[in-house]
Parts: sequence; structure tokens; C-alpha cells
Amino acid sequence: MPYVPVSAGTRAGAPEPVLHTAERRWQAMLAARPELAPAVDLQRRLLTLVEELGRTIENGRLPRLSLPPKYLAAKLARGVPVFAGEPLPLPVPLLKQALIELSDALAEGGAGETATHIREAIESGSMDAGSLLAASLTRNQTAIRTGATHRGLAPDLVWLVAELAVSPFVHALQRALFDHPHDETWRSALESWNRGYCPACGSWPALAEVIGGHRTLRCAFCSSGWELNHYACVYCDEGGEKFVTAAPNEDRKDRRVEVCGACGGYLKTVDLTELSPFPLLSISDIETTDLDVAAMDHGYARPALKDFGSTRR
Ligand SMILES: [Zn+2]
Ligand SMILES: [Zn+2]
Repeated sequence: MPYVPVSAGTRAGAPEPVLHTAERRWQAMLAARPELAPAVDLQRRLLTLVEELGRTIENGRLPRLSLPPKYLAAKLARGVPVFAGEPLPLPVPLLKQALIELSDALAEGGAGETATHIREAIESGSMDAGSLLAASLTRNQTAIRTGATHRGLAPDLVWLVAELAVSPFVHALQRALFDHPHDETWRSALESWNRGYCPACGSWPALAEVIGGHRTLRCAFCSSGWELNHYACVYCDEGGEKFVTAAPNEDRKDRRVEVCGACGGYLKTVDLTELSPFPLLSISDIETTDLDVAAMDHGYARPALKDFGSTRR
């Protein structure tokens, strides 16, 4: 069953429990690694905003997509994520406000003027919020990089702000389409998905969360979960001896990194008792930054996003 529905933890309308789960994980992390305090403070600000935005979106009205199940199933069968190339109407005014608040949180949380400049560019309209959000939704790294550089803004930070603002929307759309597939063709297409990138938005997994031996890949953007039905590199499908899983810290076999000598990619893997509900996946990500360092020290990297070419608008 390669597509794995992720429990929302607690239902919308009851925000405290999700943020309580977050707080518990942050406190555990800080107890072990107090030096992460500034990173946790910033993440707390950002996730609180994202979680609130997620509730606003869930309580509002999602666009009704005219995407017939058979059409979506055919797309997946060709290896094309369902959102690629589709016109998805973004709630721009709501998300523009989120871009501003997220930039402020980043400015206060340590990014300083670099983030303030992004806020100013969005507010003044020198960077068009609608275009930025659309580029993020379609995972267009080149457009965002070019647009940011052209305006003297930090490209990675612009990418992050836009991704955070769009993520609750794309997560809600993904769940609306994927969680209760009524159509048999569509259900079976989801169950047959066996690629390393997200079936909804095409992003690579942020990491794999392993629950009871099940290696669930978790999308870095929309938080969807899926499994491969074989054990191989998520980027290039190498499953031979060039694909190695190692635990950099001998005492923590529950935290591993998969490295691939064929494509040079790496993926972090952590054992957990339950999948992280949206938007808590980024906590798993900062809990494991030492694994990124270990992999990068050995020359491995996370590849660029896949380009779905002609299917992209
Ligand atoms: Zn995704
Ligand atoms: Zn590989």
C-alpha cells in the first residue's frame, strides 16, 4: 500500500494538541542538545504561524478541482505528480499576509535585515506575491532564484518563506484528493505509486520516518507519506551495493542515513512511534541536522528538485 495516509493528530479546530506534541518534541531535543535553542525558538514561531494558517485554510473553502480520477490515475501511471501542470487557484491575499508574517518571524528569529528586505519587497509589490506563491507551488526553483537575485534578496530565504506560506494550502489539497479515494482506478493508482518523489507535488522526501519497520517517505513540501515496495535509493532507484544505510552515531541506531554511491544523494531515516502530523515534519528535520552534516562531510548531497518539464505551466 504505497500511499500512506498521515493522521492529522488532532482534528482542525483543536490546535493545542498538535502544538503540544511539537512542544514535547522540542523540549526533548533541547534536553539532549541545548545549543539548538535559537533554532527551536525560530521554528516555534514559524510553525505556530503555519499551523494557524492551516486552520484558516481548512475552515475556509478549498478550490474545487475538476480533476477526474481516471485522469489523475493516468498521470500517476506515467510518473507525473498530480499537481504538476494543473492550474491551482491560490488564496493570494491570505497567503500574502502569511509571507509578511513569516518574514517578520524570520527577521526577529535571527535572519535580521535579510528577511526584512523580503517583507518590504512583498509589501511594496516590487516582488509580486501571486507570482512568488505560484512559483513555489509549481516547485520552480529557477524562477524564485532568478527573481530574488534580481531584487538583491537572499534566494534561499525567499524560497523558504514562500514554501512555508504555501505548504498548508498544498497539504490541504493533497489530503482532499488522496485521503479518501472513492474511485477504484484512482485508489489503485495511489497504491501502485512506487517512485522516490511525492505523488502529489513532485518534491523529494525531507526524510523517511520509520514506524514499526515501515519506511515512510515524507514529502518536504506537502507532508504526504508514501512507501516504496523495494529498498533502494529514492533518487535513482539504485538498490545494489552502492546503496548503503549507516548510523553515523554508534549509540543511535534509530537515526540513520541512506547514502548512494551511484547518484551521490542521501536521505535521513529516523525511527519514530508515529508519523509526524502536518506541520511537524520540520521538527524531525532539525532533530537530525547532525545526519545532514555527516552525509555532507562525506560528499553526499540532496539533489535538485525534479523538473516535470512540459507538464509545468
Ligand atoms: Zn508533496
Ligand atoms: Zn541514488
